[in-house]
Amino acid sequence: MSIDLKIKRLAQEYASETIANRRYLHTNPELSFQEYNTARFVAQKLKDIGLTPQEGIADTGVVAIIEGKNPESKVIGLRADMDALPIFEKNEVPYKSINEGVMHACGHDVHTSSLLGTAKILHQLREEFEGTVKLVFQPAEEKAPGGASIMIKEGVLENPAPAGMLGQHVAPNIPVGKIGFREGMYMASTDELYMTIKGKGGHGAMPDQLIDPVLIASHVIVSLQQIISRNRKPANPSVLSFGRFIADGVTNVIPNEVTIQGTFRCMDEEWREDGLRRMKKMAEGITEAMGGVCDFEIVKGYPFLKNHPELTRRMKNEAIEYMGRENVIDLDLWMAGEDFAFYSQVVDSCFYRLGTRNEARGIVSGVHTPTFDVDETALEIGPGLMSWLAIRELAKQ
Ligand SMILES: [Zn+2]
Ligand SMILES: [Zn+2]
Repeated sequence: MSIDLKIKRLAQEYASETIANRRYLHTNPELSFQEYNTARFVAQKLKDIGLTPQEGIADTGVVAIIEGKNPESKVIGLRADMDALPIFEKNEVPYKSINEGVMHACGHDVHTSSLLGTAKILHQLREEFEGTVKLVFQPAEEKAPGGASIMIKEGVLENPAPAGMLGQHVAPNIPVGKIGFREGMYMASTDELYMTIKGKGGHGAMPDQLIDPVLIASHVIVSLQQIISRNRKPANPSVLSFGRFIADGVTNVIPNEVTIQGTFRCMDEEWREDGLRRMKKMAEGITEAMGGVCDFEIVKGYPFLKNHPELTRRMKNEAIEYMGRENVIDLDLWMAGEDFAFYSQVVDSCFYRLGTRNEARGIVSGVHTPTFDVDETALEIGPGLMSWLAIRELAKQ
């Protein structure tokens, strides 16, 4: 029997267990950096398979190795994130969250159970592939500084060092049965901006005696957008959005200060630094010219996610071979962030999307919503495809 058929049979055979694991995780979600029960569950499942997991990396991270033939020949890393979100689940399903106010609303339960399924398939087939697979179960994708950055600091990309990293993410906008890829720039860096513009408040009828922070802040917002339109290279996708602008006066009272919060997202690390530097300088300069003082704080988020072009092309072609051309689609840029980006900055990486949408069954809600759910057919596709991609990539020297 050919290896792809063997994988498909095993994925099908293990699907009910993968779904049961997903449902257990969905019922028992844990917030970022608190995935203690999840990590124990993952480690136990890996032991049941016959692996020897290494626990406690980045506190709740779990890593395991599957050696094929010639284990030194090449190493590929497979990553799943394990954390849930502070959301009250509104789905009335048998596997509804029992940890009230915490929900797997980003599909990380799917990623974790799917990687457990992949582990089981690859362990079963270990005599039939070359090289080593490194399974990476990481904490805290949803919370800065991101579990991936800590896992890397604690050495997850060494001993053995993966030549490439693969990660998959559920996609509620892609029909189940389809897979999406994109070479190169894919997701954005995510930095947060916090400004306090201080002036001198007072009666709105006497603006000449005041320093109006509302007017200053308005100029700052408009001017910062011009950095995006005038200083950015047009080829660099960027977003600057402000969602909080608090000037807590009334019709005839100008407040002492205004607070502004926003997010800057782009896909070029050099431009990211340059853009942030310009924003700070402009906000402080305008405020000072108008007589006020600006506190400008930047909270750095994740870098941008770049899919290594050759690796991603290879993985897309392999996915076509496994799934059929009609089931593999190209993705658009997405200005959201993802901490898989940390891996992509230091090792050849490919982050792809696993379709989970089923319109006929009403499974259409976006990630990070209280009604998010997946078509669980994806739990047969995910482990099979990832096993196939890993084995095929390991075969390439
Ligand atoms: Zn998320
Ligand atoms: Zn996610």
